[in-house]
Amino acid sequence: KLYNQVQDLKGNIRVYCRVRPFLAGQYDHFNTVDHIEEGTICINTLAKNGKGRKSFNFNKVFGPSATQEEVFSDTQPLIRSVLDGYNVCIFAYGQTGSGKTFTMTGPRDLTEDSQGVNYRALRDLFLLAEKRKDTFFYEVSVQMIEIYNEQVRDLLNSDECTLEIRNSSQTGLSVPDASLVRVASTSDIIDLMNLGHRNRAVGATALNDRSSRSHSCLTVHVQGRDLTTSSFLRGCMHLVDLAGSERVDKSEVTGDRLKEAQHINKSLSALGDVISSLAQKSTHVPYRNSKLTQLLQDSLGGQAKTLMFVHISPEPDAVGETISTLKFAERVA
Ligand code: ADP
Ligand code: MG
Repeated sequence: KLYNQVQDLKGNIRVYCRVRPFLAGQYDHFNTVDHIEEGTICINTLAKNGKGRKSFNFNKVFGPSATQEEVFSDTQPLIRSVLDGYNVCIFAYGQTGSGKTFTMTGPRDLTEDSQGVNYRALRDLFLLAEKRKDTFFYEVSVQMIEIYNEQVRDLLNSDECTLEIRNSSQTGLSVPDASLVRVASTSDIIDLMNLGHRNRAVGATALNDRSSRSHSCLTVHVQGRDLTTSSFLRGCMHLVDLAGSERVDKSEVTGDRLKEAQHINKSLSALGDVISSLAQKSTHVPYRNSKLTQLLQDSLGGQAKTLMFVHISPEPDAVGETISTLKFAERVA
């Protein structure tokens, strides 16, 4: 109960930390994570003059052995609220390789057990809608877009034109020109997600793995008609796999790579600024500073619910990024 009260004070923002396990052959006698205790994670900071430790607090910390099901289980109440007409944003934040895509989608060789939040959320959404079918008629449609270098692209359409963000449209769509596809089952969504992933890969340049340098957003729009009153409600859920949060060394990159890095940096800080000003109940929320925050404006703040999964890697090499990730996350938590 106390936990719920704290949630209310925080204006519906929750932050979960997830530590990925060591990958095959990676473990080298040192783990950046000293220990995990409920919502607290303690990091070995590897300070030059001996060992240092630093703790960070979150709503919850998932250790390396947490399953996809466990990670998803706390997300379920949010799915219900989408069907009740609320807007929801779920983010995956972290440096490249820390497990963002694993949490949201799953590993490359996907099995039912390893499916990520996206699949589970949609399956739940359909199940719940089915349970309510005597009282509500729901229509579900999805959009899938990518933000790369502050340009918005439709991932459900193979042409690479840039789309506009328009807020406060009648339809509740912030990118009205992006394909909006009606879906009736989880398998429809899986097909669309596969199409989106293919289009994303096609757009990848020689610069390799552009997916780590763009934000991808799967948006599920739900319209429900109350069968007794005939009134409508509308909710939506954004499932966002953010660009890698790693800082690039400005002395080492130039040209396109530097431009990408600056765009990512700018949009992730804009997101951090928006969420932390919401958490502090600030009167001015700076949505206009990036395409990402403009896109999500109607789903961040107000009655909307936000869940951020922050990801860290356990390797000592990553300790600098791990600490900056945790600092970012603590600022929004
Ligand atoms: P990101 O999207 O942040 O760049 P990925 O999700 O691609 O990172 O994860 C990097 C690698 O680690 C992938 O091979 C992925 O399957 C693996 N991985 C990430 N998280 C986990 C986890 N919780 N359990 C097992 N393997 C994981
Ligand atoms: Mg990824």
